[in-house]
Parts: sequence; C-alpha cells; structure tokens
Amino acid sequence: MSEDRRQALRNWELDITRPIRVQTAAGQVDTAVMHTVDMDASIEDLRMTAMYLRSPIHTLMFSSKGALLGANSSALEACHVHTPGAAVESVTLKTLFDMGLYPGGELEADCAYEEALNAVVVKQLTWRHMQPHRSRRDGKTKWSMIDMWPMNQSDYFSHHLPTSTYQDYTTLLSLRMCLFAASKSLLDSQMAAARLCGGVHDPMSQDPVTATPAVLVKQYNITQHKELEAQLFLRQGDLQRQKEDLEQVSVTMQEEKLRLQQEAEKLAQQLQAVLNDKFVRRNTFDAETPIDKTLGYLETIISGSTPPLQQALELHTILSQSDTNLRQPVGLEEQLLMGRMGSDEAPQPWSSYAHATAEAAALTAFEVPTFLDALVSPSLIPDVERLLHTADSSWQFDVFAFAEATPGHTLSVLFFYLVKQSGVLDGMYLDEGKLCNFLQKMDCGYDPLTPYHNSTHVASVVQMTHMLLCHGGIIKSKAMDRPLMWGTYWAALVHDYEHGGLNNDFLVKTAHPLAITYSDQSPLEHHHVAAATRVFLEPDCMYFTPQSWSPEEVGMARNCAITQILGTDMKKHFDILSRFQAAFKRPAVHSAHQQTPHQSLEWDKVKPEDKTLLVIKCADIGHLAADHNTHKRWSYKLEEEFFRQGDRERALGLPISPLMNRDQAGGMTRSQMGFFSIVGIPLFQALTDLFTDAQPVLDGVLANYKHWEAASQASGPQLKKAVSAKRC
Ligand SMILES: [Zn+2]
Repeated sequence: MSEDRRQALRNWELDITRPIRVQTAAGQVDTAVMHTVDMDASIEDLRMTAMYLRSPIHTLMFSSKGALLGANSSALEACHVHTPGAAVESVTLKTLFDMGLYPGGELEADCAYEEALNAVVVKQLTWRHMQPHRSRRDGKTKWSMIDMWPMNQSDYFSHHLPTSTYQDYTTLLSLRMCLFAASKSLLDSQMAAARLCGGVHDPMSQDPVTATPAVLVKQYNITQHKELEAQLFLRQGDLQRQKEDLEQVSVTMQEEKLRLQQEAEKLAQQLQAVLNDKFVRRNTFDAETPIDKTLGYLETIISGSTPPLQQALELHTILSQSDTNLRQPVGLEEQLLMGRMGSDEAPQPWSSYAHATAEAAALTAFEVPTFLDALVSPSLIPDVERLLHTADSSWQFDVFAFAEATPGHTLSVLFFYLVKQSGVLDGMYLDEGKLCNFLQKMDCGYDPLTPYHNSTHVASVVQMTHMLLCHGGIIKSKAMDRPLMWGTYWAALVHDYEHGGLNNDFLVKTAHPLAITYSDQSPLEHHHVAAATRVFLEPDCMYFTPQSWSPEEVGMARNCAITQILGTDMKKHFDILSRFQAAFKRPAVHSAHQQTPHQSLEWDKVKPEDKTLLVIKCADIGHLAADHNTHKRWSYKLEEEFFRQGDRERALGLPISPLMNRDQAGGMTRSQMGFFSIVGIPLFQALTDLFTDAQPVLDGVLANYKHWEAASQASGPQLKKAVSAKRC
C-alpha cells in the first residue's frame, strides 16, 4: 500500500458534506446530506466515498488476497478498539474472521475465511455469514453480519462503475455490527438518492469520475428529526413526571390500603359483635321491619344527626341477605320461637327474673316527694301535689291540667303516686328504683303526636282504674286480692303501649307486621302486652325482688293484666259484657234481703280474671263520665285520630272506614248517641249493678248522654249508628 493511500485512509474526513434540499415526492421537499469529494482527489479516494463514510455500518474494502484497501470511519474506529496500537494496514480479512467466536476454534475461522473467499472470488457469489464475536470494549459477546461480494462482478458496480477503472479493488466487504438493512437495499437507496440529486440541478451533484449523478450516501429529514427529538424530549419529561406522580400515588394508596385494612378489621369485629348480639345473645324483641329501620335511619340523617355506625352495619347485614322480607320484622320466626321458648335457656318461673336482693329493695325505696323532686319542676310541685290529691279522690279529675304540669312524666308521676296511695305496694318489697325506670319507659312508649292514644289518655285510664278500685267499691268488696289489683293497675298503665294511632282493622287490611305476627287477632292489644313485658324484663326495670311474690302470685297478676288488656279490643266488647253479667248475676233488684251485690256472690268460686273483666274497659272509656267539656275534648281528639287514619286509607287507595272520612260532615261525633246507647251505658250499668259505689261514674255517663241528646235534637234527626271502630 502506498503512502498516499495510507494518508487517504486516514483523511477520508476531507470530503465535503453539506445539506441539500431534495424533492422526494410531489410537493414535498426534504433536507438531505450529500457527500461529495474534492475535484482533485485521487481515483481511489473518490471510490472510497462509496463506502458510506459516516455510516454506522463498518465497511471495509479488501483485495482478493485479503489485504485491507480502505475502511470507513466506524470501521477504522473498531479496528483501533480491537487491535489497539496496531497499524491500520495490518488488519486483513483473515483478522476479522479470527475475531469471531467459533465452536471449533481457529480451524472453524479458517474454514469460514476460505469459504468466503471461495464464494466471492472463485464462484463469484455474494457470501453472507452471521458471526459472534467477543467485544474487547466491554467483553460481551455480540453478533455481526459479514456481507461480502466481488466489486468487479457486482451487477450494480458493473453497470454504474466500469470495472476496468477499479481492477485493484476486487472485494468490497461490509462488516455490520448490527442487523440493519441488507446491503442491496442500501445500494438501492443510494441509487434513488442519486436520481433525486439529479433532479435538483445542483452543480455539485455530478460524479467527477464518471460524470454520472453523484452518489447520495445518506438522506434524512432534519426538520422531522429535530421535531421528533423535541417531542421525544418532552415525552420523556412527561413520562418522568408521570412516573413520579405514580410513585407518589402508589405511596398514598399503600397508606390508604393500610388504613382501610385496619378499618375493615375494626368493622369486621363490630359486625361480628352485632351478629353475636343478634343471633346468640339476643334477648329483646324487635318488631321493626327492614323498611321501618331504613326509614328511621334516613330520618335520622335528614334531621341532621349522624346515626350510629352499628346501626348502619346492622342495616347493611339485613338488606344484603337475599331472603330478607322488607315488610316483616327481622328474624320473625326466631323471635317468635324465642318468645315462646324463652330463648335457648331453660324455661324459668316469672319470679326468677327478680334480681334485686331484699336489702337492695329496702335501700331503693322511694318516697313520693323524692320522686316528684326528681321529675317535676319545683315551681310546679304545689300544683302537681294538688292535682294528685284530686286524682286520688275525684271522679272529675282534670287530666289535661295534670299533663300540662308534668310534661314527659305524666304517667310515671300519676301511676307511682296512685299505687302508693292504694297500698297495693305495701309489703311487696318491690325495687322501687327499677319500678320508676319502668314507669318512665312507659311514658316514652306513648307518642305525644298521636291525638288520642297518648300518655294523657292512659293517665286518665290509670286514674279511673284507681277510682274504681279504691272508691268504686271493688277493694271494699274484696273482689280482688293484691296480685289482681296490681295486675289491673299494670294493665291500665300499659294497655295502649306503643299505640300508633291506627286501629286493628287498618293493621289487618295493610298486612302490618303486627297483624301478621298475631294472625290478625287483636294485634294492637297483643303488642301492648308483649312490648311492655319486654321492657319489664330488662334488668334495670325488673322491679320484683325474691321477696316480692310467689311464682303463683306473679302469674296471677300477669294473667289478670293480659285478660284485661286483650279485653280492650272493642271487637270483644259484647262477649265480655255478657260473660261478666253471667259471672256476676246479681240478685233480683227487688230482693227482700236488700243485700249488696257482692255479698250475694261466692267470690271464691269466680275465676280471678272474670272478677276484673270490666274495670279497665270502663276506665278505657272513662271520659264518657268526665265533665262535659273534658268529655267533648276527648271526643274531638278521637275524631281527629280517626280522620288521620281515614286520610291514610285514602292515600293507600283503601275504602275509608266508617266515621273516618273527614270530608263527610259530623264524623264520629255524630254517632255519639248510638255509642252511648249501645256500648257506654250498658257497660257502666253492669259495673254499677255490681259495685254500687261506682254510681257517680254512671251518673256522669248519663249526664253526657243528655248533652249529646240535646245537641242532636237541636241539630236534626238523631243518627243511630252502631260503632264498630275501636274508641278507646
Ligand atoms: Zn285506651
């Protein structure tokens, strides 16, 4: 190799490189880079420009003997890396083959070399070979592709570059470090570029050797490239920020996940507690339907309060069960079974529910003044005491005034005072503290918004019961022992407990849960007993002590209360009245012996519950005997309650019950004459027939009857309409 050629090998950078504009398609102009050479360069140097000087593909040119004739920049660089310090001209074709890694070692490299020369030089074929080699730069094994073809036999070169000019350059070898486009396609692109260059009439686009268009060795769109670079840079920035955001979100989500896990564990514990309470330890009854519970929950929210989480959990559990009947109390069958079987525990006598000791009972004994102090405003105590005194002795007790003086505690105060006065509690060893708890819960069980069946009505019934027992001759007749008396007071107290202002007919017509529970049989009255009994069984309300009564006495009191409360269902009115009259057949009115009625009876032979049959029934409609203004006030309250039920019936598309249509003039008040005649007067008459001391009650009833009669005569024809709706 001559010195000039060596210099040429090192100075390939002397070529001129400049961008040109090339029309690559109709209306589209791209920027291209064209390598041209100096007009004075040697023929060898001119030809070397065909070796894509700046191409990343290592391109080397060897003689047919394997000696290096030329190489492009990247190939030269690679040579220096692989053979540091060695002269460039020491690189041969054999050197390249020796750089490769062959399973058979050097022998295989020699075989590959010979095969390549044989293919290219002797057989005149292009030879291609994939060769692994170990890079000296980083020690890693890489793949190279070696393309070899004879320059003077190539169709391309023989067509465009006369072979006679380049006889020394018999082999052009392209050693490519990466698997890029095949050499043929690269040459094709060169041809296309050359044609394009010719199209722009650039004076420098002529090949100075062949006078054919110059070879365009590289073409790219700088504008597009820069735009892509800028987009890539921005995209990288975006991706980096997204990555950071995602990392931050990931941290936050991890924290949230941890928090939710802890909350879930806590909720699971609470849920388990609810379930345990519901299915294992449940000892109270729950007549609310899922819809009632949900509405109550929503109303709590609407009112601005936050319902307890446990309530939400319980609702969720109920509503998520597939077999939940929304209009039936939850676990109705279990509840009923529990009610009948006394839960899972062995049946116990009523007296066993008495928890307090006799000492505790003695310690908690209440005095009436102390009780009043706790419940009534000091300024009202004198009025309350005066009214209480009246309640203990008058058939014309002003219950409305009393209710106004004892808001929220009307029943508690009145009942406690009257039973104390009656003496029924004497020697009973009741836990009076717990009795007061029970009384206050009864107060809370009556809705003040219900026009008639509220705690004021029940207070009036309690007071009338007290009057009948203590001043109507019942105690005096010894018709009742103490358990029956207590049962009667208790019945008066709870006989409308949790009354919703709707009668039994409505509950039955609308398939109310209570109607379903009690098979349409006096659902309200059954509920009053059952619900109040549940309260009574609560530990802080169970006022019986072991010293109070025997189980038989407790049972007697309870039977008496149940009989009386169930008897307040007006559907049973005539049956009860006839039974009473049959049980207490008084002697002929004109008996010569002039015996008092009770003296004529053998009381011991009368069933205990029959002795009490009429007391609460009379007390329940006791307002018939009140002074006329009070009686009218009660009548209009009941009428309003009836109208409200009628309104609901109308809204539900049900037939409106008799006397409950507010659009019809008169309402129930027009039926008063009939009610007095058919129900009221016979009832009070039967009572006073037996207990003559109760005569003032009958007098009061008759006086009111006369008022209605006069009013009826003044306003038109008397309407005699029997009353089927409950009035008490
Ligand atoms: Zn009542």
